[in-house]
Amino acid sequence: MVSVQAPATVLVTGANGFLGLYIVKQLLEGGYTVRGTVRSVSKGEWIKNKFSAYGSHIDYTIVEDITKTGAFNEAVKGVDAVVHAASPVSDNLDGTYEEIYVPAVKGAESIFNSLRSSPTVKRVVMTSSFVAMMEPHEPGFTYDETVWNNNATKLVKENPQGLPGAMYYLAAKTDAERTAWNFYNAHKPDLNWDLVTLAPPCIFNPILQDEPNFSTSLAYRNAFLEKAENLADGHAGFWIDVRDAATAHVLSLQKPKAGGERIFITGGAFKWQDLREELIKRDVPGVLAERIPGDDKYDIPDLTKCANILGMKYRSLGDSVLGSISSYQRSQEKK
Ligand code: NAP
Repeated sequence: MVSVQAPATVLVTGANGFLGLYIVKQLLEGGYTVRGTVRSVSKGEWIKNKFSAYGSHIDYTIVEDITKTGAFNEAVKGVDAVVHAASPVSDNLDGTYEEIYVPAVKGAESIFNSLRSSPTVKRVVMTSSFVAMMEPHEPGFTYDETVWNNNATKLVKENPQGLPGAMYYLAAKTDAERTAWNFYNAHKPDLNWDLVTLAPPCIFNPILQDEPNFSTSLAYRNAFLEKAENLADGHAGFWIDVRDAATAHVLSLQKPKAGGERIFITGGAFKWQDLREELIKRDVPGVLAERIPGDDKYDIPDLTKCANILGMKYRSLGDSVLGSISSYQRSQEKK
């Protein structure tokens, strides 16, 4: 049974991203050594500097183009485990098939091919997303790990050009995760490692990087700027605190039972109205007070697997969202 414990060395792809940085932070705090992949020397040096207290326990490898065959060959050499978090997440989830879908899916193909004959890697944890489970349903539907977003895959397959950018993101995350499972199932007898995929929904809390990421900007926009009518009946879905999402990645390396599992992780269901109310309760000035119209039906997360395998406990929505808003505002003040 696999359990990757400190002082193991873990490769984290997308190490300079919002979630990637928290995963790196928690791994270092837990006594692991981390090799991060980034796209440039300046991003790598920035990370080394940020975590300089950990000295030689933090290093980086440049992977300029994750879609290239063999792109990760050097990066995976000698590591004990991999967390694959890199994927395009643009602001507003806009972008084209080539910008969003191709790097996500080809990037997954590339890293799994590089891992095919790794003699050292024991576990691979891939950051998927709740959007890979977000098959359209009536509000009140119970989501568990058996649900796949076949709708987005089908739409993008039928029409790879001209769809809204968000649809490419939905299909990208779904098909990147499918790529991972298809590869794993096809090659399992020859692999030294097992696979875990994690499906986090909208991620909140403060950023460690300088520029706000997609979900931080989204929280700000929907609290302070977006007209209520534009959010009407839109059930926001589910959320998770970034620290909890990072912890789930670390636990997925450590828990023997996680091997071979797809796991949905979330702090719960929410609506944008809840986000506004949590901020108003905390006396945050300027939050739009106009009530967002809509029913009171929430989707339901089935967290059985997550509880049984990872034993996760989650932070509260209000504290998490407050972190997002404060750090978004700080990042704008610095400009
Ligand atoms: P982020 O801050 O934008 O980080 C994304 C990371 O991926 C960055 O390191 C970025 O590198 C890298 N990346 C993006 N496109 C790339 C490409 N074409 N080639 C190589 N690297 C690329 O986003 P995040 O929110 O932390 O997301 C991290 C992971 O969590 C992603 O897999 C995302 O799908 C997943 N996720 C996020 C949320 C959310 O609400 N934020 C929810 C569910 C799942 P650069 O800095 O060089 O661009």
